[in-house]
Amino acid sequence: MSRNLYDLLGLLSSVAFILALKGLSHPKSARRGNLIGAAGAGVATFVVFFYREDGKGLQNLPLIIGALVVGIAVGVPAARMVQMTQMPQMVALFNGVGGGAAALVAIVEYLNLGNSASTLAVIATVFTVVVGCVSFSGSVVTFLKLQELMTTRPVIFPGGRFVIAGTLVAIIVNAGYVIVQGGNSLLELLALLSLIFGVLFVLPVGGADVPIVISLLNAFTGLTVAASGYVLENILLIVAGTLVGASGTILTRLMAEAMGRSLFGTLFGAFTAKAVAGSGEQESRPVRSGSPDDVAILLNYARRVVIVPGYGLAVAQAQHTIREMADLLTAKGIDVAYGIHPVAGRMPGHMNVLLAEANVPYEQLSEMEEVNPTFAQTDVALVVGANDVVNPAAKTTPGAPIYGMPILDVDQAANIIFLKRSMRPGFAGIENELLYDSKTTLLFGDAKASLTKVVSALKAL
Ligand code: NDP
Repeated sequence: MSRNLYDLLGLLSSVAFILALKGLSHPKSARRGNLIGAAGAGVATFVVFFYREDGKGLQNLPLIIGALVVGIAVGVPAARMVQMTQMPQMVALFNGVGGGAAALVAIVEYLNLGNSASTLAVIATVFTVVVGCVSFSGSVVTFLKLQELMTTRPVIFPGGRFVIAGTLVAIIVNAGYVIVQGGNSLLELLALLSLIFGVLFVLPVGGADVPIVISLLNAFTGLTVAASGYVLENILLIVAGTLVGASGTILTRLMAEAMGRSLFGTLFGAFTAKAVAGSGEQESRPVRSGSPDDVAILLNYARRVVIVPGYGLAVAQAQHTIREMADLLTAKGIDVAYGIHPVAGRMPGHMNVLLAEANVPYEQLSEMEEVNPTFAQTDVALVVGANDVVNPAAKTTPGAPIYGMPILDVDQAANIIFLKRSMRPGFAGIENELLYDSKTTLLFGDAKASLTKVVSALKAL
């Protein structure tokens, strides 16, 4: 393959990535955008088999094919079988693996080049190794938190901030040495320190702030890939990495803004936080629980109902049943809206995707800023599998992991109904006072089972 054809195909892949991002910006075109991106990635992967500058063709072919076979054998079934609710963990893992792979490639390239590497290439290598390793180990901790294989609350230990600061200083000094003096073992030490830093960096982040960190690590991986593109003199990697880095940075900023957080506060807030409110342990205070018939009656006589979906709706896969219920209410002349919090669920846009799957009309979805002023005129706020995004501790309890995050003001509605299975807290692991409010009715059970009963009760009224 000629150099010109190789460059042209690289350019085509870059354009495909840009078109993919454009497509992904709207639910209607997202599927097409995804396919275009996948096609671009396919072309980008396969052109390297047919081109090599020195004309010798690709070396180590059996190893490369072996890696491809293993990757496909693991990736395809994993992507097919993953539950919608586990998607964020999967994204976190893929993201971390991307950063880790870029760091490994940079290390190998550095060892190959030896003393012949230019200073700029060494700086790019050091950057790739540090940020790639941080992204890898940080993403693994995020995965463990999301999969609830470890606590989702901030993990803080005495002197933690000094350990973090010390590790950071060691990384900077070490990186300086590698750039000025070189040295293979120093580079390996740098990789190890960066891996440790990644873990320390994500451990103190708790509850509501995990989404911001996921998207920050995503941006890190993009920057790592772009820097490794520089090391490997591969323009396509630079373009793709920059796109991921830029979009990840924008998403991080938007998420932080939507949650009323500063990035610094998100990452290091846990070290300065005072006693964390709400132990997450279950209390024995009384709550008012109701039957599906009670809930159906409250809904039937309402003029306006706002449905607040959350992570539990996705777990229960109750999106079709909730739509059926909303259609029934609308047919009775009741004004129905869905209040969507930016971090409801476990990934950005989770509720939009879930409800789009059930063909809920897009016009019925209201963003937080839009729906909040309407709660005071709402007869029933129906909270389905949501908890943190309506928890007033975000306003009232300094020190709570979600303190300062804007919430959906369901406490202003005339009646509040919670559909959940138990008194367990949400992702942030803190008690929700609203469950004990005198306006609140709890319908315990799996959201899909509960909604099915409410639908039957509504039909019978
Ligand atoms: P929460 O995790 O706060 O609450 C979910 C609720 O759903 C729980 O109260 C749980 O109670 C209930 N639930 C779980 N399964 C079922 C079921 N089958 N049927 C009925 N109820 C069920 O979710 P929210 O959506 O309110 O908040 C999202 C949280 O996740 C925030 O803290 C956010 O920061 C975090 N997060 C968000 C990400 C994003 O990008 N959107 C990414 C990572 C984290 P019970 O167990 O009693 O049923």
